[in-house]
Amino acid sequence: MYNYHENTYITQDIELPTAFAYNRKLDMIMYNPKHPQYECYDSKYALIHELSHRIDQKEIQSWSNKEFQVAIQQTADNLLNNKTLRAQIEKELSDDGKYSDNIAFHDLIDALTKGKIKTRVSHETDYWRNDSARSAEIFAELSTGKIQGEDFIDEGFLNNLVKIFKVMIYGK
Ligand SMILES: [Zn+2]
Repeated sequence: MYNYHENTYITQDIELPTAFAYNRKLDMIMYNPKHPQYECYDSKYALIHELSHRIDQKEIQSWSNKEFQVAIQQTADNLLNNKTLRAQIEKELSDDGKYSDNIAFHDLIDALTKGKIKTRVSHETDYWRNDSARSAEIFAELSTGKIQGEDFIDEGFLNNLVKIFKVMIYGK
């Protein structure tokens, strides 16, 4: 694997329209300390998230992996159509739920359900029309969850998605 710890460049840009971003053209992680949302982010989480986008861009390209796309669809359908599961996830995301403060899980559910299950993060509905962007967000949050040892990685309903994610990362 590429030596990400030696070759990742992080640059400040006070014009950046978001607090953190990975710029594919420049191959750099950017941050804007003057952005109004900057203080809301856990910077460790944000940097792992953007680094995950970089890994995806440089060597995985999750959006062109057919098995990953099928697993995304199956997981999304299951979340939206299985009433018991949906209620459980909504409870875990709520103020007194297990994942109340877990931004990676909120973002993952937002991307999987295209905002149909309400989370703390919000994207315009239009945002999810772009399948590549959706795949990249799902990949980045699975990667962040795995690196940070989050419990949601082993949640049953993510089973197949996580299995394919691991094959993409470790090759088995
Ligand atoms: Zn992202």
